[in-house]
Amino acid sequence: MTKFKLEHNRPDCIGCGACAAVAPEFWEMHDDGKSDIVKGIHRDDGWQELGVEEKDKELNMEAADVCPVNVIHLTNLETKEKLI
Ligand code: SF4
Repeated sequence: MTKFKLEHNRPDCIGCGACAAVAPEFWEMHDDGKSDIVKGIHRDDGWQELGVEEKDKELNMEAADVCPVNVIHLTNLETKEKLI
């Protein structure tokens, strides 16, 4: 069940590749030098988002932790709590 919203502030991504290194299931590098959420939806504001399950929370928290510019965010859809 989708419990969290994973978001990527793609315009501010510096393309370091750290997210794709720790969580390749969810993060990949794109031709333009920035990362993408695998199968993520591209929004009009340039961000990406994807609904993720409880089992995928820790891995994406890790990706967010290693991001040097803090452009990866996770929100609990039930409580609206922003985890990172
Ligand atoms: S870790 Fe952050 S800055 Fe680096 S590629 Fe991933 S989202 Fe972009």
